[in-house]
Amino acid sequence: MGQLSLKNVVKTFGDFEVVKGVSLDVHEGEFMVFVGPSGCGKSTLLRMIAGLEHTTDGDIVIDGKRVNDLAPVKRGIAMVFQSYALYPHMSVYENIAFPLRVERAPEDEIRKKVEAAAAILHLESRLKQKPGNLSGGQRQRVAIGRAIVREPEIFLFDEPLSNLDAALRADMRLELTRLHKQLGATMVYVTHDQVEAMTMADRIVVLNGGYIAQVGAPLELYHKPQNTFVAGFIGNPRMNFMPVKCVAVSDTGAEIDFNGQKLTIAVDVPADQRTALIGTKVTLGIRPEHIAIGPGDAVMTIRPTVIEHLGQQTLGYAALPDREENFCFVLTGTQIIKDDQDIQVSFSAADCHLFDVDGNAFER
Ligand code: ATP
Repeated sequence: MGQLSLKNVVKTFGDFEVVKGVSLDVHEGEFMVFVGPSGCGKSTLLRMIAGLEHTTDGDIVIDGKRVNDLAPVKRGIAMVFQSYALYPHMSVYENIAFPLRVERAPEDEIRKKVEAAAAILHLESRLKQKPGNLSGGQRQRVAIGRAIVREPEIFLFDEPLSNLDAALRADMRLELTRLHKQLGATMVYVTHDQVEAMTMADRIVVLNGGYIAQVGAPLELYHKPQNTFVAGFIGNPRMNFMPVKCVAVSDTGAEIDFNGQKLTIAVDVPADQRTALIGTKVTLGIRPEHIAIGPGDAVMTIRPTVIEHLGQQTLGYAALPDREENFCFVLTGTQIIKDDQDIQVSFSAADCHLFDVDGNAFER
């Protein structure tokens, strides 16, 4: 149990449509992450699943049952918020026990469930303390404990790690992955952080402006982004995009003219679209980590204006003619380069992505 389906779900606030017909199946036991930039509608979508927000149109179905008109407590879900939402005057024990007290569960059942949740979350020694005496990470674990005792079919997380510092966030990512394995429950997790999405998700839903831009496993999104939005959103630093001209198309792929160099990108262009594509502008995408110093299939001379030596990596940024965004490349940390000097870099045709004029990817 714990299967969730969204069927053409729409949300409007007044005249403003923020979720524009989202359809999606979340499988039983799956860790599904909704990711996207601020305002894309991910929290609203989660709040509709929770029942905290009315669904304007479409159906929300949990385990085969339409729940649109069901109160939040009757949906078999538990939600964990960014703000923890703990009661400061209550002990950790009472905070975790709270939903069971509301249900008027017997005392020994409450004790068993709170102790079991505390053991899973390593909070046994904290049960008598007040939230004010805990670190941010411990407080978030108390909030998760409160969700666990309800034994929900589906856990909903709304940016639960946003208030934690970077090191603690990394620790909590591991904790949540472990928790998911241990409980085997369905989890739907909202974040704007693509690293959280990539590291924890079984599958990721990338949202853009109220629409689904792509759904897939983390590496599928990285290797086969279906459009420039997903290509630019997944991966850090961001993919470089450059306008190029398509000069020929064949069974082996599309040939493009990159600064006078002919490059064949092994994409699959349907036979009936080939003639129309020749002579048109397309967008070449190449990830910064696929750029190397020295010769290769396509060579560019660039003058980096900023170099960032991070230790394990060296990042370089160079302005390109007529481009607003800097061209970015990543080298290993042992490669020391200087700014404001011309260098020759290159990339391989096999690492390139190609997008049509609407930003949709040609299949690789
Ligand atoms: P963030 O990461 O910034 O929270 P998000 O993707 O989760 O972004 P939502 O919180 O779902 O975005 O909001 C989507 C859009 O809907 C935003 O433009 C927001 O201003 C708007 N919105 C959200 N709640 C309401 C509301 N109660 N009334 C009016 N507009 C709202």
